[in-house]
Formats: sequence, C-alpha cells, structure tokens
Amino acid sequence: MNLVQLLSQNFARYRHKPVIIFGERTWIYQDFERQVTDYASMLHHIGIKPGDRIAIQMPKSVEFLFLHLAILSIGAISLPLNPDYRGAEIAYFLADSTSNLLFTTSDRLAQFQTEIQHLSDLKIILTDRHNSSSSDSHVLGSLIDLVSQSPQGFIPAYPSSGGDIAMICYTSGTTGRSKGAMISHRNLIANMEALHEAWQWQERDRLLHVLPLFHVHGLNVAVLGCLYAGATMIMVEKFDPNFVWRALEKEQISVFMAVPTIYQRLINSWQGLASIPDLSKVRLFISGSAPLSDRQFNDFEKLTNFRILERYGMTETGMNASNPIEPELRLPKSVGFPLKGVEIQIVDSHGKTLGNDEVGEVWIRGENVFQGYWQMLDKTTEAFVDGWFRSGDLGYLDPLGRLHLVSRAKELIITGGFNVYPKEVENVIESHESVKESAVIGIPDQDFGEKVVAAIAFHEGLQVPLEDLIKHCKSSLAPYKCPKHIFEVPEIPRNAMGKIQKHLLKLSTAP
Ligand code: AMP
Repeated sequence: MNLVQLLSQNFARYRHKPVIIFGERTWIYQDFERQVTDYASMLHHIGIKPGDRIAIQMPKSVEFLFLHLAILSIGAISLPLNPDYRGAEIAYFLADSTSNLLFTTSDRLAQFQTEIQHLSDLKIILTDRHNSSSSDSHVLGSLIDLVSQSPQGFIPAYPSSGGDIAMICYTSGTTGRSKGAMISHRNLIANMEALHEAWQWQERDRLLHVLPLFHVHGLNVAVLGCLYAGATMIMVEKFDPNFVWRALEKEQISVFMAVPTIYQRLINSWQGLASIPDLSKVRLFISGSAPLSDRQFNDFEKLTNFRILERYGMTETGMNASNPIEPELRLPKSVGFPLKGVEIQIVDSHGKTLGNDEVGEVWIRGENVFQGYWQMLDKTTEAFVDGWFRSGDLGYLDPLGRLHLVSRAKELIITGGFNVYPKEVENVIESHESVKESAVIGIPDQDFGEKVVAAIAFHEGLQVPLEDLIKHCKSSLAPYKCPKHIFEVPEIPRNAMGKIQKHLLKLSTAP
C-alpha cells in the first residue's frame, strides 16, 4: 500500500482536528490533506511520473511536509536534503540520484548555481515564501505560483505497491562517497506501525517537534508517528532550551523526541529557569540517533523525574529497538528490546552468531530494512548477508534480550546527532594543495557527544595558517562536518601495515 493512501484514512477521520501548529498558524487535518493534494496536482501537472526522484532542500516548514507527502502520494521518490549542504554536496546528490526536480530557495540556488549547471535534465522550483523568479533556464517557477495554477480537485491514484521506493536518504559512506538508502513504502509503514504500538501513540497526543525534517528521526519517526495516531504536532523551526521548557507546559505536550545533545542543553538550562515547568501532561521523553550517556539519563531523571526512553535506529532500517513503555523498565545505556517485526542477532567477524553478553556486530532483519543503496550494487551486496543487514554497530544482547550498544565497527563520528564519516572530511582537507595527509577523528564532547577534529601533516615548505584549512572545509562541507579544531603533526602515525593509528591521535588530544 502507498503510505499516503494509508494516512489519508486519518485525514478523513480527524478532519476538523488540528494536525500542525507552526508559528501563528494552525492546520487542521482536512486543510493539511487539501494542501498535499494540491501539491500532488502540481507535480502531476508538470509531468512528474512514478519513480521520478525529487529533491527537497527547504527550511523546516509545513510546505516541506505537503511536498514530501505529495511526492509519495503520486508514487514518486522524495529525496530530503539538509539545507546546510554546500554546492559540491548538492551537486553530488542530484547527479548520483539523477533527480528530475529540485525544490530550493532562491538564496540557496544562488550559492550553488554554478555547481549544478551541468545537470541539464534537472528542473528547479523556488520555494521562497514570497513570489520569486529567476533567469536560470532550469527554473520552472515559484512553488506558490505553480500550486495555484494547477487544476483543483485532483484525485491521486496512489500508485505504488509496498515494495516501491518512497524515499532515498543519503548517508555518508566509509569511502567518502555518500550512499542513497532506498526506503520503500512498506519499510515506512512497518516501522510506523511498530512504533505506534511500542510507544502507545494516542490521538490525544501532542508532540513537540524540534528536530530537522530532512532526517529520518524528525520526518519518519516524529511526523509519521503523529499523523498515524491522528495526533497534533507543535512544530518549531529551531531548538531553544528555554523555549522548549516553556512550550512543554504551555502547549500541554505529551511526547517529546530529541537527540542527546538537545537533552544535554535542556539539562544545562534547567538551573536558569525562572520557575519549574509543569510537565504533568508529558508521558514520553524519547532519545535517539546517538548514544545517551548514563550521566545524561540520570541527570535528567534527577531534575524532572522522567526516565528518558532511548531507542536505536538508522537511516537504512528505521527504528530497530526501543526501551519499554513502562518507565521503571527503561535502563540507561541499553537501547531496549527489538521492536515488533524486527529481528536482531549479534555476529562475530566470521559470521558466527554469538550468545548472550558476547559483543559483536549487530545484524538486523525485518520489514523495516531498506531495499539497498541506489545504483550501488556492490555496496548493497557488502551490506547484506542472507537477508540480514550488517549495521556496523557493535553491541550485545543480555539474557533478557535487551540490546546494549558498545561502540561502532564502522568509522563514524556522531556529532549532535549528525553522522560524519572521516573519509569525506579527509578528502576535502587533502584537496588543499598544502596538505600532505590528514586523519579525522571524533573526540568526546559533553555537548555534541563527539566533535570533529583533524590532524594534518603539511607538504614541506607549504605550511598555511590552520584557519585557512577550516575555511577551505567550510566552503565545500556542511558546517556540522567541518573540523572544530585542526592540529599539525610532523606525520600521521601508522602501524607496520600502513594503517593510520587514530587511537594514538585521540590520545594526543586528551587534556
Ligand atoms: P543515522 O543513519 O543518521 O540515523 O545514524 C545511525 C547510527 O546512529 C547508528 O548506526 C548508530 O551508530 C547510531 N545510533 C542511533 N541511535 C543510537 C542510540 N540510541 N545509541 C547509540 N547509537 C545510536
């Protein structure tokens, strides 16, 4: 079934109920559905067909959601992109996915126009809130105009069966080339249903949405959870801890989802609050996308009396495991039990299944698991063994069946909930003529979980100020991927096999 077709049952059922409150504006389900249909009409009218790839690089907004669901409703494929991506990153995603259409703002387009000029088949629609135009021949017009000019009363035929691709989400790759994870309608529906049950979503729930919409956490876990329950979402554009504490009380929030960095900031801001917020309507504080430390779990409980519910997921699989709904059964440093329909096993480096309490790689199987990487058969083949997806995370199952993550086999830095693969950053640093080689590492950080730091060795006689290298990174990488700090070493340490010894670099950065 098409995901939007399934959700449309709720659009009809909760017709007059608020679905989203964003700034001053409240949308009821009926108006929300009408907008999705009007956007679908526009896409249909300009010739978008099932299977076409459509990239969305827009600020957080309701229009983002209208568009995303409209794309899915006509069987096309949505490609959400971080608004912070730089020209080189955008050009890669658009070219790799052979996207037919890009939605972006005129400001952003001006920044990367030259980098995407060569994509002759790409069309662009400008999403500025005011009417906008462009002399660029790729630009079809403005979103507002095109939607208003499209025929009213469009009835989506909801093409696509469950196995069809709904989204392509780019995840960074270990080799530095990002991979497009293909997520089907069935994957989305299976995960939405499993979470609905696990977290006991209810139509009276009110979700405070502070996460980005271009990532599976904010888009699939939070938004779909809310729409499927017929609940109401209070969406805010940017996270601010003081605002959140106030909003939890004022908006009578029952569900809040965030990454550990956000919880840390909430903890830090508690002392400065003028009065203790009334959290009596809250039933769930949920955390994921990066490890929540036991200190964060305990500090938050001490302040608020709430035990954060930690869950574990990935772009490729959606959510895999969750702590129980009963607060007393939630444990710090465990990501809980496999969700309904999700199988998890722990496997050693020879592919042998391990027993309880033995640490190995987490392998995942179920309807939640994605369909492979877009046009990267070799990467897809590498990622699966007999239908099991190799997560690259290391952990163990305890005798009760709870999953504990201990570290990662994949070389990945998670900073503020965002993933950074060192290789991608190293490639950019090494494209600077002064740099002989580099090694990017993640250093523990109280706020971000980990922060990106780079060690570099210069070519002899070509030294430049280290700030120049940071500037160089900022010109082609989204800010969260850029090193917060670069330090110079005479040479990058390697072992006898020539492998870079990143643990030695980590030690040398220890205070
Ligand atoms: P992403 O694809 O951006 O969602 O990142 C997925 C990765 O984030 C996983 O493979 C894990 O390494 C990490 N991750 C997600 N949730 C957790 C969690 N609760 N604890 C530890 N790591 C997590």
